[in-house]
Amino acid sequence: MDTIVNKRLYNVFFLTIILLLVLLSGCGEKEELNSSKDPEMISEQIPSAAQEIFAMDTYMSITGYGEKCEEAVEDAVEEVQRIEALFSVGNPESEVSLLNENKELVVSEDTAVVLKQALELCESTNGAFDVSIYPLMELWGFTSDSFAEPASDEITSLLDKVDSSKIEYVEETKKVTIEDGQGIDFGGIAKGYTSDRIMAIFEEYDLVSGLVSLGGNVQCYNGKVDGSPWKCGIQDPDSADDILCVVSVKNKAVITSGGYERYFIDETTGKKWHHILDPKTGYSAENGLISVSIISEHGMLADGLSTSLFVMGLEDSVDYWKEH
Ligand code: ADP
Ligand code: MG
Repeated sequence: MDTIVNKRLYNVFFLTIILLLVLLSGCGEKEELNSSKDPEMISEQIPSAAQEIFAMDTYMSITGYGEKCEEAVEDAVEEVQRIEALFSVGNPESEVSLLNENKELVVSEDTAVVLKQALELCESTNGAFDVSIYPLMELWGFTSDSFAEPASDEITSLLDKVDSSKIEYVEETKKVTIEDGQGIDFGGIAKGYTSDRIMAIFEEYDLVSGLVSLGGNVQCYNGKVDGSPWKCGIQDPDSADDILCVVSVKNKAVITSGGYERYFIDETTGKKWHHILDPKTGYSAENGLISVSIISEHGMLADGLSTSLFVMGLEDSVDYWKEH
């Protein structure tokens, strides 16, 4: 595993590109605390609250420690549901669906923030990340679960629609306009935005510590209650019970993208097709990486980059890191 430290433009703290099948496990639970203080006594003194929910097509857990932990976790759950209602492509009433349907919409502040980050990423990754990927996701059946490898000419006919430079966004009015045939899908970035928002809620309630796991996306608020870092284990791809490595983090998102997360196998050819598409080819990205993990204080950026770098492959990812 290569570990790269990046302190420049995006303040991405670590970028790990893992050439093996990697799953990110939850943080903390299995690890010993490394503080000299008695962790059990400390955690007994500080109230905690936790909730598990299913949202954004994945299981999520939200845990907070502090006097106002109950309210904070409750608000965090509501925030997940609020953001899901904005970005879900499966919900015809969502803001994204209305935009995809009507091709123009004055959007909320949330959508504006996420769209701006997505457009920036598209530009800086030379189109590896493209939020206008929706028509291709739909064609492959990833939005409906009726998966099938499309005919190559169907894919080719959509490629020029997958082009974020054709999205018009006017900052003053927050009006977004997309071309006929275009569609937006925030799936590569929405969970990172959500975990950032939860960190903001934890801060508002002045929590001592907190942790969210939104599927493979982990983000922590501060360290553990005794001040020591959270330990996030990255599982051995060959054995779900073994940890390949552990990262120690405070106030960081640890976000992984991989082709093993959502895929189908074509019954005729035996070929596995996964949900991270290469906007240049219209097929599942296959650039040599099985998984990419990003560690950053910015959840949305880490989420967007894990998807982007997975598409770019190792060499281009390293160049990207050097450049940024
Ligand atoms: P997950 O959300 O499964 O943890 P990712 O963060 O990598 O994994 O996001 C994958 C999702 O991103 C896809 O389901 C799709 O909505 C979207 N997506 C797929 N390919 C791209 C791409 N090249 N650029 C931007 N978004 C993409
Ligand atoms: Mg992502």
